[in-house]
Amino acid sequence: MILKTIAETKDYLNKARKAGKTIGLVPTMGFLHKGHLTLMEEARKQCDLVIVSIFVNPLQFGVGEDYEEYPRDLSKDVELARGVGVEAIFAPEVKEMYPKGYSTFIDLEKVTEPLCGRSRPGHFRGVATVVTKLFNIIQPDFAYFGQKDAQQVMVIRTMAMDLNMNLEIVTVPIVREADGLAMSSRNVYLNPQERQQAVVLYQSLQKAKEAVMTGERNPEQVINILEELIKGKPLAQLEYAEILSLPNLANLAVIQGQVLMALAVRFGKTRLIDNLVLEV
Ligand code: AMP
Repeated sequence: MILKTIAETKDYLNKARKAGKTIGLVPTMGFLHKGHLTLMEEARKQCDLVIVSIFVNPLQFGVGEDYEEYPRDLSKDVELARGVGVEAIFAPEVKEMYPKGYSTFIDLEKVTEPLCGRSRPGHFRGVATVVTKLFNIIQPDFAYFGQKDAQQVMVIRTMAMDLNMNLEIVTVPIVREADGLAMSSRNVYLNPQERQQAVVLYQSLQKAKEAVMTGERNPEQVINILEELIKGKPLAQLEYAEILSLPNLANLAVIQGQVLMALAVRFGKTRLIDNLVLEV
């Protein structure tokens, strides 16, 4: 079932809700890969009806970012989602989500300040706004998000708690290629040399993890390890390498408790992110 309008989506889901079905939502921007499909499989296990949203949200792209070029293939996405038992796909046009005169936005403080919030101003405002709209349209019992976008997970969890949203947020671990590269729709932008060097995100996180596991507690030393390896790849341009506390994403004087090591690296026009959570 492909739903294009908000009205038909609400109508379809109201019927399911009346029939006593629990609803699971997997929000995506499409061009589906195994990472997305894993979220859907989790939803499938937990919910009676799984709905996937496919919407390249212009609001979360900054000026000069890849909104226009972002890969899109709705018919293949529909096939892939059906293959894992998804009942419905909500794929609205931009004007359906943001009609003329649209003027309401969701802004979070603190959790949006470091990492991607710093390098992509307005990004999380766009994410929080579209996710709120999706939650209101679909009213899911469960919504599924990938740990690949670790800060996004914290943003959504904080927002759901602060605004008393009536659903459970489920986080799914990062799905990787055989060499360790985190799956991403943006990986198709990489040329063969960039693709080969892109594995450095995963490798540097592993090396940094090893250092922490063997006793390193100085965040600067760990960041040095991350940076050194990335700088060793001629096509990689480091955007950030940080180690922050969880769940509040605050700076650390000493590595302890639950920590997030997070990276953003550019290969030409392609921006890749990856992360790793450690319990110290
Ligand atoms: P996107 O289409 O990139 O906005 O991603 C949609 C959802 O899939 C988000 O919750 C992502 O965190 C999640 N996701 C994307 N790539 C992966 C991956 N490699 N592993 C796990 N989840 C992912």
